[in-house]
Amino acid sequence: MSDKYQGFTKTPVGKILVKNLGLPAPAKLERYRDGAPLVDGTVLVGGRGRLAESLSGMLDTLGIASTPVKPEEGKLKGLVFDATGLTSSADLVALRDFFTPVLRSLESCPRVVVLGTPPEQLKGSERIAQRALEGFTRSLGKEIGKGGTVQLVYVADGAEHAVTSTLGFLLSPKSAYVSGQVVRIGAHTGGPVAKAEVGEVADPAKPLTGKVALVTGASRGIGEQIARVLHRDGATVLGVDVPQAASELQALMKELGGDWLTLDITGKDAPQRIAHHVKTQHGGVDVVVHNAGITRDKKLANMDEARWDSVIAVNLSAPELITRELLEQGAVNPFGSIIGVASIAGIAGNVGQTNYAASKAGVIGFVDAFADELDAGITINAVAPGFIITQMTAAVPFATREVGQRLNAMSQGGLPVDVAEAVAWYADPRSSLVNGNVVRVCGQMMLGA
Ligand code: NAD
Repeated sequence: MSDKYQGFTKTPVGKILVKNLGLPAPAKLERYRDGAPLVDGTVLVGGRGRLAESLSGMLDTLGIASTPVKPEEGKLKGLVFDATGLTSSADLVALRDFFTPVLRSLESCPRVVVLGTPPEQLKGSERIAQRALEGFTRSLGKEIGKGGTVQLVYVADGAEHAVTSTLGFLLSPKSAYVSGQVVRIGAHTGGPVAKAEVGEVADPAKPLTGKVALVTGASRGIGEQIARVLHRDGATVLGVDVPQAASELQALMKELGGDWLTLDITGKDAPQRIAHHVKTQHGGVDVVVHNAGITRDKKLANMDEARWDSVIAVNLSAPELITRELLEQGAVNPFGSIIGVASIAGIAGNVGQTNYAASKAGVIGFVDAFADELDAGITINAVAPGFIITQMTAAVPFATREVGQRLNAMSQGGLPVDVAEAVAWYADPRSSLVNGNVVRVCGQMMLGA
């Protein structure tokens, strides 16, 4: 399932054709290796606002080297700009002043993060200036090249202490295929932001130590990688999959020292069985990842009832019913994290996927519906993968697959691990004010942008 086109662009003939025909030239994306430092290089920090003074200290706690001035020599691996102090459109020039002189000094796969205040919490000129940041970061994401990524993080007033895990994710190779995204921290708390609402971790390299993570559809594809990454981060993984996938599921969970449950999540008694299992076997659950999903594509004119029903049942009704049961039974531990897997199809729509896109847009609604209701530091967020290279997308016809892979700022498909790393960031107890977000893992796909 390798990207043959990307391999071709690295050959002598490929290089000539790419240059002369202006073809897409996908960069080799750096991905996180277990045990490696989060950032291999120096990050320039700048700007003025609520976060500027504490930025270097925050990066320091993550083991990330930073500097407030551009070094005379050497290149930069990342740029972080605190834009929370920009209160009018005239102030926006500070973005140009900071970024323009340093953009040519970036190493490969650079990371850029702009910090702002959620516009919906502001009024007048300040609201306008903060909203403008979104166009800036999305455009820079399309310009930056070299496998670079650019994100905007809106930090609510009072949530300044809850930014570390997000910076760690967005500045590291863990976010290789996440770009042009807007993240909100502390914008959905169901009440005032309190310092106590941020979870703590004993070992930052293994933030999920002592935690239990339930992953549906864990036997293969994206679910398998989610299980592996959560295990890497210290969690005991409880994998769930259909009985037909029992042997793959058991083999994986044995390898990861985890637990398994074979059932169809659409079964009438599935929510109760899952809740009973996590309570009796694990005393509760900390991370719930609703990854299991299916496609049954047909244009609506030819859509039979079975295709419609099965897709809605697996992708949307089951996550909602399982979540409700777990919450009602008090089975989700404080600072727990519920994570949905949506899709770019649920944002942009897709021919032949009215059922699938409805289910995946519904997953976004599922996040919205629960985000303001949860308490005890429990959060709900979703990832929306774009084109991820798995068995699901291997079944897509060649031409469609080629176009699908190139239609993003990185001109390539993502890997299951890219989705898994985003899930692990949400699951981190330090992300307990990261709530109500839908982050796309799509290489900044042009569709539905
Ligand atoms: P996959 O088909 O490789 O894996 C899905 C897993 O879910 C399988 O192990 C399957 O057995 C399990 N499953 C299906 N129905 C189930 C049920 N009723 N009960 C329990 N388990 C069930 O798919 P994937 O590509 O790894 O996709 C994982 C998730 O990511 C899905 O929700 C999918 O919609 C979403 N997604 C994938 C892509 C992509 O490009 N691959 C893009 C966007 C979203």
